[in-house]
Amino acid sequence: MNQVYRVLKIKIPWKLVEERPDVLDLAVRMRLAVEEYAKTLLKEITGQEEPRLTAEELDRLLTPDRRELARRIIEEVFPKYGLKRYIAEWAKFFWRDVVFHRAVPLNAQLRVGNERDMSMAVFVDLKSCIVRVRKLGIPPFAIELKKGNVAWIRERLEEGAKLKLAFLGVERRKGKELTYGKLYIALVFAREVASVESKAIVAVDVNRLDHGVMMGLLVDGKLRQTLKLPDRRTIKELRKLHEEISSLERRVARETDSARRMLLEERVNRLKSKRYGKIRSVVIQIVKEIIELARQNNAVIVVDTMDDETYQGLKEGNWSGEKKHYLDGLGQLRRRLKELAEWYGLPYLEERLYSTICPRCGAKMAEEKNRIMRCTVCGYSDHRDRVPLLWAKKRYWEILRKKQPVFPQFRRPSYF
Ligand SMILES: [Zn+2]
Repeated sequence: MNQVYRVLKIKIPWKLVEERPDVLDLAVRMRLAVEEYAKTLLKEITGQEEPRLTAEELDRLLTPDRRELARRIIEEVFPKYGLKRYIAEWAKFFWRDVVFHRAVPLNAQLRVGNERDMSMAVFVDLKSCIVRVRKLGIPPFAIELKKGNVAWIRERLEEGAKLKLAFLGVERRKGKELTYGKLYIALVFAREVASVESKAIVAVDVNRLDHGVMMGLLVDGKLRQTLKLPDRRTIKELRKLHEEISSLERRVARETDSARRMLLEERVNRLKSKRYGKIRSVVIQIVKEIIELARQNNAVIVVDTMDDETYQGLKEGNWSGEKKHYLDGLGQLRRRLKELAEWYGLPYLEERLYSTICPRCGAKMAEEKNRIMRCTVCGYSDHRDRVPLLWAKKRYWEILRKKQPVFPQFRRPSYF
């Protein structure tokens, strides 16, 4: 059994932030205290000013014998930011998690029916659809739970999850100056999950979001079902959005009148946030389909991914803005897929499933018209979308034997 986590971020509406500047002020103070603590601790441990560490490296560094050092730093740093004594106490208790999340965990209670209010800092009441935040040294405040939030929480409860704790978070935006943007309450849900005994494979080829993501279900070494997402219409819509944005951006560059330029820029920004939302919803939909297929068939999810170097190369390379957004979408897709696979106990693997190497003889294939690939040595040919799935078929038993358990790429916080 593994302890797995999912996080719901509930936005604090802008109206409340405006009416209650002390909320943003508190969130920023907590964030600054946490950052100073983490920075000081890591400097003491590594001797470096701002060490760049992966989660695994952090995990190795934050050994129990550093606990006292961590506590001492928290005691020094937190009062400087005017934080209540017990906030520092929570931070000391969760000294490692604070470094990982750059936030102080708050105790939280979820009320589904008529349970007694236990006076915890974050009180999530499903009946009245309200989240109350209190005991943080400022007057309490409440935010409304949207229908979608309530539905999300109920789904987690049905899956046997429990609310473990919460964070008061503030997003930090890097512009010319560091500014603080969105405020949110994050609710961390946890549950125990047993790894699925895998009996099938769902192979996913995610190289190009603009060509669609191809997935195939393989059972007993045979390709049983294929599906390509998103549909053509959605891809077309996205392309249209990209074109609109680039043409507007060209107009902005030519515009000499500053008032008119500002109006154009506003339109560009509106379209960009629309594009962001669209890509996000496409990603959510694709991941949902993959997870459903894998759950129905107790399948291992095998994702073909280019290695990170190639990915970085493409990101930094001379790609048009359009492709960069698709790449970001792919990054989101991988993260989300991995997270949900873990949540449902589905094994998740990343393997190279080639689309340009012949699955029959291993020679290089050449691309012909309409994305048909032909092997220059043995003459085998198939649609480019199907080649990675045939690689999964070829390696079917080897992949199943790997039987990799659910393995969090990043160390999961040890809340309890
Ligand atoms: Zn061949």
